[in-house]
Amino acid sequence: MRYSAVPSQSDAARTGLPTSEGQRELARLLADELTAAGAADVHLSETSVLTARIPATDPAAPAIGFCTHLDTVDSGLSPVVRARVVDYDGVSHGGDLVQDAATGTAIRLADHPELARYAGQRILVSDGTSVLGADDKAGVSTVMQLACDLLAADSRTGAGEPHGDVVLSFVPDEEIGLRGVRTMELDRFDVAWAYTLDSCELGEVVEETFNAATCTLTVTGVATHPMRGKGVLVNPILIAAEVIDRLDPSETPEWTEGREGYVWVHDVVGDQSTCTLTISVRDHDRAGYEEKKARLQRIVEEVAAAHPRAGLELVIDDVYANLADARTSANEHALAHVYTALDRLGIAPIPLAMRGGTDGSWLSTQGIFTPNVFTGAHNFHSAAELLPLPSFAASYRVCRELVRLAAGG
Ligand SMILES: [Zn+2]
Repeated sequence: MRYSAVPSQSDAARTGLPTSEGQRELARLLADELTAAGAADVHLSETSVLTARIPATDPAAPAIGFCTHLDTVDSGLSPVVRARVVDYDGVSHGGDLVQDAATGTAIRLADHPELARYAGQRILVSDGTSVLGADDKAGVSTVMQLACDLLAADSRTGAGEPHGDVVLSFVPDEEIGLRGVRTMELDRFDVAWAYTLDSCELGEVVEETFNAATCTLTVTGVATHPMRGKGVLVNPILIAAEVIDRLDPSETPEWTEGREGYVWVHDVVGDQSTCTLTISVRDHDRAGYEEKKARLQRIVEEVAAAHPRAGLELVIDDVYANLADARTSANEHALAHVYTALDRLGIAPIPLAMRGGTDGSWLSTQGIFTPNVFTGAHNFHSAAELLPLPSFAASYRVCRELVRLAAGG
């Protein structure tokens, strides 16, 4: 609740990091708490990447990391979060979860049938005017609790339970294209593998993410008064439309699911002189991803050849990669440990090839295999975001087990 009270939306329109003062404020708050708890190497970077280390009690055990993000998404809702705990009985108000009795704002059972699973539980929600921000403050809270509990046990007994170095990172601006994690000083995150705690309901394990590219096509035409247009005018908008027309219409977000990739044209800005398309390419499969980018390149070349007086420039920027591609024989037990932890705790696993990316997708491109563990929350990026407290507690217990398992426990 304390963390959710700090407004920390990221702002895609701003340059420089962090993109909001609230993220810096939250990072400072966490840094102070970690320092007070006795963490080592507490470091807050210029871009508000906070790193800290819980020193090993078993120097032979491998170092592992946990990465969470400081920002919450700007969904056009209120930046101020008023979190509250509701005892949800699943029966009153027709099974709807009332967020604010005064205004009658509620999460409707009809719209969110998953609510039924949580009848009889205490659930954390917003007042309905904002997201809850469990994405990712549930993750932040869980990791902070883990840090404080490990440090307290270690200082009480001299050496609590055996564990290797546990390195924490809290990064800004995840929601606006993983901007923050890319500025992480990796020598401050020297781990054998890591986990993100970001999204997903009880039991979900993200073991794959997309490979992702942002492609920008700029078409330059020839502008002239249309009265003298014949043979002179080159319309960049129509040429951009030709490129769109050659894309596979079945290979779009609205026609794909599961492990099917897509090419998504999502921004068009044009006038008489230039037209710019922004296109996202996504695929879990590396070969499929490369093929999609190559096909786009080929289409642009063909259209360019048909319009010698136009200029077509395609820039392809690889943004992040499938975290599964960082899996090696030296780190693959990172994932096995998640399933062992879930099994020990009696939680049914829900493996997921996520149709998106996490900070772990970027860390994985740097060779740090980073699967994602659930936080327990539902309905991210909406006013109906909710976090059942038993799921939240289960996420914490999984992390405790992961620390134990890494040390062979
Ligand atoms: Zn998130």
